[in-house]
Amino acid sequence: MINFHILTLFPDLFEGFLKESILARAQKQGLVKINVCNLRDWGVGKHHQVDDSPYGGGTGMVLMMEPVDLAVKEITKDWIPKKNRKILLTPQGKIYNQKKAGDLAKYEDILLICGRYEGFDERIRGLVDEELSIGNYILNGGEVAAMAVVESVFRLVPRVLTKEEATRIETFHDGLLEYPQYTRPEDYYGKMVPSVLLSGNHAKIEKWRNEQAIKKTIEKRPDLLDGRED
Ligand code: SAM
Repeated sequence: MINFHILTLFPDLFEGFLKESILARAQKQGLVKINVCNLRDWGVGKHHQVDDSPYGGGTGMVLMMEPVDLAVKEITKDWIPKKNRKILLTPQGKIYNQKKAGDLAKYEDILLICGRYEGFDERIRGLVDEELSIGNYILNGGEVAAMAVVESVFRLVPRVLTKEEATRIETFHDGLLEYPQYTRPEDYYGKMVPSVLLSGNHAKIEKWRNEQAIKKTIEKRPDLLDGRED
């Protein structure tokens, strides 16, 4: 069982995401719980203000410390120490990857803080355990990044995937890309399925798949082979 708490100014963005496919099934089974929190609820003053202009001048608005601090305190008040992780989603964070997803899947509670506008008051960084980025590009907000983290973590929680889904070998398994996959038809206007896959010889098929996974990784992602991951 894992609980995600998402702090966002745009909770409606998560509506469709939470209602579909394996994530919907896992919530129904009680294996995953998602608590989407509206940062505005902790906004300051009668207008529930959450952002303000930056000291020193400059364009855009910056998320204020107080609403985020109050929200984090309230959301985490009953958490058991050591079984939770508070994460700030930011392009300045460490690049997220499959290994990190596996590490996060072991926690009971995960808080994901989504930024917006020009980003955060720098002091907000002191409220979290770590900062994560989903890649070297700029999103308008942390919501898409939060979805990427939720989706990659919850599927690693025991019993979320069916036995068949869980035993599937996927890209990044053993640090390799997945072998090439084919389905019907066997011949698509002369583009053929490799004959070994039609041979029925399981040992041969496994050997071919292993070789192809290595070949593909060398060609497309050599950085995975020496652990560089760039
Ligand atoms: N001005 C900020 C900077 O240069 O670091 C970027 C602000 S960005 C427009 C608004 C918010 O989107 C960020 O605070 C963060 O929460 C989220 N965000 C943008 N790119 C991201 C990325 N690559 N990974 C994770 N979150 C991201």
